[in-house]
Amino acid sequence: MTNGVVVIGAGHAAGACAAALRQGGYSGPVTLVGAEPLPPYQRPPLSKAWLKGEAKADDLLLRPSTFYAEKTITLKLSTRVLSIDRGARRVMLDDGSLLDYDHLVIATGSRLRVLEVPGADSAGILELRSHADAERIKEALGPGKCLAVVGGGYIGLEVAASARALGCEVTVIEREARLLARVASETLSDFFSRCHAGHGVSILTGASVAGFDAVAGQVSGVRLTDGRVIGSDVAVVGIGALAEDALAAAAGLECRNGVVVDGDARTSDPAIFAIGDCTLRPVPRYARSLRLESVPNALEQAKRAAAAVCGKPGPKPEVPWFWSDQYDVRLQIAGLPFDVARQVVRGDPASGSFAVFHLDASGVLQAVEAVNAAPEFVAARQWVAARQVINAGRAADITLTVKQIVEAAAGKA
Ligand code: FAD
Repeated sequence: MTNGVVVIGAGHAAGACAAALRQGGYSGPVTLVGAEPLPPYQRPPLSKAWLKGEAKADDLLLRPSTFYAEKTITLKLSTRVLSIDRGARRVMLDDGSLLDYDHLVIATGSRLRVLEVPGADSAGILELRSHADAERIKEALGPGKCLAVVGGGYIGLEVAASARALGCEVTVIEREARLLARVASETLSDFFSRCHAGHGVSILTGASVAGFDAVAGQVSGVRLTDGRVIGSDVAVVGIGALAEDALAAAAGLECRNGVVVDGDARTSDPAIFAIGDCTLRPVPRYARSLRLESVPNALEQAKRAAAAVCGKPGPKPEVPWFWSDQYDVRLQIAGLPFDVARQVVRGDPASGSFAVFHLDASGVLQAVEAVNAAPEFVAARQWVAARQVINAGRAADITLTVKQIVEAAAGKA
């Protein structure tokens, strides 16, 4: 009798991997062990529609809850894996039980960076990773509440936008000189600064948090290193995440800012795969290994690991992509801005619809940031994959359709 596949984690990557195993014809036992009480669900709505009260509980689920029984996938929820015994091919769970495996998939996601400053343990200082976190934030927000968001990254900005929709007064506190400093072009940062300011959000850049003030244990303000205090009833800290790779490292698997995997999502132990946020994975388009925190990455690696277990070829590598929704703005990013020599803005950011093309020294398209510009995003995913050379002048010319940009480059227009 086969011991089957054990998946550590029951998040986005884990749920997708279990489904892909069955789709691929895998008939052995599949068990997902997840620390959270919910079956696999989607995190993106937690900072968006869910926080605003615009999504139903079922909308969050990756698959209907009946799916797992139908596909004979065992869910062991509210259960944590404590250790991996690679020699015995066995994991130990926090309920004292042991699970044997033929293949193990590590899908433990990421853990939030902690802001270690005085007063950080006061009530009302919240973080957002899980459904339970989102519930706490939702309960704390409401008309007239003063929210301080520490961290001007995507999650912080999405929380800020949702909180404005709920009638809160919002201040975003960002240590760097601009919002989204590590992940977006200056054009995009400027756009989002103006967009949030236009919706009544106060934005403080170059502002470091020294600590939190509290009254009777409840947060009352965020104290900055320059002495300013931002009065607040609630603070949400969103300062990034790290790979949740401690279990893998303790089991002696190669880890370097994430569990190191190959193109099939296989770790340094051939019986063990790792997928999703917890991995450092090869990204062939950029000839680098990277840790990506995104749903498309989780889905792609889930399919890869499942295909490898089933002995089938995996899907073609995808160009990394990502999205964010804030107010009526849909940002879509295709590719990653490595080796960029030139940026070209197509459209006027003030119009609320534009795209930033990132070209290398030879004019090859490396990435596109598209704001309410779906055609540019859709085309860019293909062009980045194909290493398309883009004519900068034509990319900027909005009298041309998106298609005409490359027709021109190929000398057809
Ligand atoms: P997760 O979905 O985090 O799942 C990991 C699971 O493993 C967790 O449930 C965890 O509790 C469990 N676990 C960890 N250790 C153990 C253990 N020892 N035993 C058992 N279980 C364990 N991505 C986008 O592409 N677009 C977006 O707009 C977007 N918005 C986001 C908004 C928010 C608020 C958040 C938090 C994330 C967002 N993301 C977005 C990122 C995306 O959700 C993640 O990249 C994706 O969830 C990664 O899937 P995963 O399975 O690797 O990790």
